[in-house]
Amino acid sequence: MVDNVVIIGSGPAAHTAAIYAARANLSPILFEGWMAGGIAAGGQLTTTTDVENFPGFPDGISGPELCDRFRAQSLRFGTVIHTETITRVDLSKRPFRYASDEREGAARAIIIATGATAKRDDIPGTRDGELWQKGVSACAVCDGALPMFRGKPLFVIGGGDSAMEEATFLTKFGSKVYIVHRRDELRASKIMQDRARANPKVEILYSHQVVEVLGEGVVQQTRVKDLKSGELRDIESAGLFFAIGHKPNTDFLGGQLKLDDQGYVLTTPGTTETSVPGVFAAGDVQDKKYRQAITAAGSGCAAALEAEHFLSAHPE
Ligand code: FAD
Ligand code: NDP
Repeated sequence: MVDNVVIIGSGPAAHTAAIYAARANLSPILFEGWMAGGIAAGGQLTTTTDVENFPGFPDGISGPELCDRFRAQSLRFGTVIHTETITRVDLSKRPFRYASDEREGAARAIIIATGATAKRDDIPGTRDGELWQKGVSACAVCDGALPMFRGKPLFVIGGGDSAMEEATFLTKFGSKVYIVHRRDELRASKIMQDRARANPKVEILYSHQVVEVLGEGVVQQTRVKDLKSGELRDIESAGLFFAIGHKPNTDFLGGQLKLDDQGYVLTTPGTTETSVPGVFAAGDVQDKKYRQAITAAGSGCAAALEAEHFLSAHPE
């Protein structure tokens, strides 16, 4: 038996694709993963508390509850969901082949929506069960406006465009934003560096490292080390944001789709088409710019519509 559409992933992109594909009578099969990319089925939103910028929830909604609702809506229209991680695909010819540890199958079209995982460093105080999500975050756009950060000094780790952008964004809320970078030179583009440097609330600590985050229940102090002199300083702060890059979940593709130099799936601009006709990519796995639930959902919708058009033109 050959499935029409197999969707790999479990965040807003995958479930929006499933809702659209199911309502188009394509009987989608969705593999939601089992701790794939180190995250529970449901994707990155399962790791956060309140989501306040997803339209339709004027009072906010908890990340896990929003994920449960996406899943329930997929099921309502007949999506078949397997809690299994796809470990292999063969995209060399149609029908495409796929495999998890428990089954193998074939599909006429595939939608990849496996997301990306924000990188975190293993710094004492920042781990799960310590101050993670109690002032420590990996998404300034998502968490920066929380009351706990208002009028307080904040830290961003990283020297790339994300760090510059997040630090500049955080100056709207914090009294001061320290950027901690491990080298003497930033990696960020000149324009982003200039914007951050021009902001009077930003101070860049070059050749520094955060070595510990301290606090009772919430972040209160950040311990930094000057990598040249070895000097340690404890600086008052209410938040620490990692901006050290993301890792897209594309290892299982085995190099069969064109990826960029960081491993993101390359899509034809303005579409979700990948380098293999019949394979579509949606959400953070192909988007290193916006990385938001609503943009992921939007591209999941586009992937399902494009898969539907593709299957009409190429039924076998
Ligand atoms: P993801 O949410 O990344 O989910 C993909 C999932 O697919 C993976 O997590 C895994 O479960 C599954 N998977 C991976 N590989 C496989 C495989 N091989 N087989 C089967 N399944 C697989 N955005 C907002 O808009 N508002 C917010 O408030 C907000 N808060 C955030 C807070 C945090 C802490 C983080 C980390 C992110 C936050 N974001 C927020 C960003 C948002 O979560 C992402 O942009 C969005 O979840 C991306 O959706 P996605 O569908 O591309 O995939
Ligand atoms: P990058 O990989 O460009 O930068 C990551 C930064 O984090 C680097 O400065 C790196 O240091 C530092 N870093 C990595 N690991 C660690 C660690 N363990 N401890 C401390 N520091 C660490 O990622 P970004 O997310 O910034 O950007 C990804 C892509 O997205 C880029 O192509 C960027 O241009 C693009 N982007 C564009 C934006 C825009 O134009 N508006 C906004 C955001 C992203 P080092 O330099 O020493 O390697």
